[in-house]
Amino acid sequence: MEHAAYYEHAVGADPDAALRRRQLDNPREMARLRGVVEAIPADARRVLDVGCGAGIALSLLARARPEVAATGLELSARAADTGRRLFGVDIVQGSAAALPFADDAFDVVLATELLEHLPHGIYDAARRELARVAPRAIITVPFRERRAQVQCPACGCRFNPFYHLRSFDDADLAGLLPGMRRADLHITWTRGFFPGIRAARRLKAALGHPPPLPRETLCPQCGFHRPPAAGDGPEPKRPARRLLYAAMARIPRPRRPRWARAAYARG
Ligand SMILES: [Zn+2]
Repeated sequence: MEHAAYYEHAVGADPDAALRRRQLDNPREMARLRGVVEAIPADARRVLDVGCGAGIALSLLARARPEVAATGLELSARAADTGRRLFGVDIVQGSAAALPFADDAFDVVLATELLEHLPHGIYDAARRELARVAPRAIITVPFRERRAQVQCPACGCRFNPFYHLRSFDDADLAGLLPGMRRADLHITWTRGFFPGIRAARRLKAALGHPPPLPRETLCPQCGFHRPPAAGDGPEPKRPARRLLYAAMARIPRPRRPRWARAAYARG
């Protein structure tokens, strides 16, 4: 499976609906993107967002800071088209491993939810490229994520359903960008898992019952995927399960880290 094929597939049959469901109508996602935009230093005039998707962060930036020249880079041609059409943002199609920009062409480079997706080879190239095109960078990645796995019913391969290929901890983030030092680290926290639930899921998977492949998820080995649900909406939860979840939501749980936003500066 080609690396780029994931991203074309992830956009889905209806890019606008996918964008609404995953980001625009998702308060946590939008808060994360607003946090990134607010973290951009006040003196920045040229900003690049690598792996910008449909350019929501760019559109938030354009609204908040019209003096900033904002550019996006996106591997998926369809995501880039969606962003240009919906938000009128400037998006260049290309790979994070070979940014089509001169050294220091920007004041700040952003990469949000990009690095955890990059396969071996592309990952190191992208880290070098991010450090090359701007003297400052803002990166967000899932922090200390314990990646769950699903199993493809066609070929049996196990993989993370969000295509997260790596996790990041404090040490990973400290040395992330070559020639740059980490200037700031901000962690977003969320409610943790119920004690025992993860252990039970792992045991179930070990006994040959891994969780089913979510819709929209493409097997990275053989390309298998389930057909999309009618209406392209989330799968409905059964009423009993909904009641159970509502009751469980009232039980206090310890918090766990979700996202890290790290700022870097050269030198
Ligand atoms: Zn497969």
